[in-house]
Amino acid sequence: MKFVAPALLLLFSLSFAGAWTLERTRRYLLLFAIAFLCFGLAAAGQIAIWPRDVGANKLITVILFCVGVLLLCEGVLQRSGRHLALPLPLFVAGLIVAGIFYFFYIDRSLVTRAYILHFGLGTLFLITAWQGRFLRHGRGADRALWWLVVVVGLHFFPRTILTTGVFIDGAFGAATFWNWVQITFSLVGAIIALGLMAVTAIDVVTALRGERDSDPLTGLLNRRGLDLHSRAARKAHHKPVSSIVVCDIDHFKVINDTYGHAVGDAVLEGFAGTIRDMTRAGDLVARIGGEEFVVVLRGTPPMGAYQFAERLRLDIQRARFSGLPRQQTVTCSFGVVEFREGDDLWAAVDRADEYLYAAKKAGRNRTFAEGLQKVGVA
Ligand code: GH3
Ligand code: MG
Ligand code: MG
Repeated sequence: MKFVAPALLLLFSLSFAGAWTLERTRRYLLLFAIAFLCFGLAAAGQIAIWPRDVGANKLITVILFCVGVLLLCEGVLQRSGRHLALPLPLFVAGLIVAGIFYFFYIDRSLVTRAYILHFGLGTLFLITAWQGRFLRHGRGADRALWWLVVVVGLHFFPRTILTTGVFIDGAFGAATFWNWVQITFSLVGAIIALGLMAVTAIDVVTALRGERDSDPLTGLLNRRGLDLHSRAARKAHHKPVSSIVVCDIDHFKVINDTYGHAVGDAVLEGFAGTIRDMTRAGDLVARIGGEEFVVVLRGTPPMGAYQFAERLRLDIQRARFSGLPRQQTVTCSFGVVEFREGDDLWAAVDRADEYLYAAKKAGRNRTFAEGLQKVGVA
């Protein structure tokens, strides 16, 4: 029965390792797996008293706990593409190990060792919370993870004061204290593991949603993504007038036929990059067909959208695309319409397509906009 706690910690380690083999780009899962392996081995070592030498046992298990917490904290930051700034955490971990050594071999004191280990580990979590404070301003999963690190870090302090007071100074004795430490350590370990697993599940689902809603070649939204984001944007903001710009590359088939499909792809990527550079955070940009793009300009009336389209048109005409000879220009045609509150997105895109079609018929490399040109619709 007494090995239930370490077995649980090792099981969490295996789960993270399994998740990592499925998602090898998420290296933090491997760090979590090794961290829980350290916790499991440390807990098992404490219970089985292995190594047999008590002093060596104390030192090795404490080192395993420190390494585990450092790896866990590094994993929390690596998940967001950052790293733990190591000097301070390493210094604290060094102090913990040195303190355990001193208060075992030189001035033996169980209470002081308990304080050093638990306050030290709590401090490592709190340093991580400080270094990862950017997480507080992130998405829901980031904020939840940050609070998990803070709460776990803080809990070491009152818990240690309470348990050492009751069990060591009081009537229960050191053996009960260690049982209590084992139980709370595994409970906290389980809470951290389940929290990290929930955050990982959210990360994976968010990434899958992102892939589902975006175009793999250009990274822009796809049809479905545009639909979803446009609904969400309309709920969140109440800008009465927006505009829709549709854009289609002229004679793209010729580019493909002359220079090959790969060069065509590179042109699409460069083209998408130019649009992305010219739009603001609240605008939506999507690739809805082979070489057809839609931009929803939030809070922009059609006249502003016309000017945007003209700037983009000239930029594209001037741009150089990799794989194309210098003299080979790429041009595109645009259709612009107003997108009012209550308008159906795809009906508005169809209307914009009519203007685009008229621009193509009029000779390509131009912008036709609602209110400026007359076409057979509206
Ligand atoms: P227009 O000026 O009338 O728009 O002529 P166009 O040649 O651009 O239009 P058309 O619809 O005749 O041809 C579009 C071409 O786009 C045909 C298709 O092979 C190509 N295409 C569609 N998707 C992709 C893609 O993902 N990569 C590449 N390289 N080409 C694509
Ligand atoms: Mg075209
Ligand atoms: Mg087309």
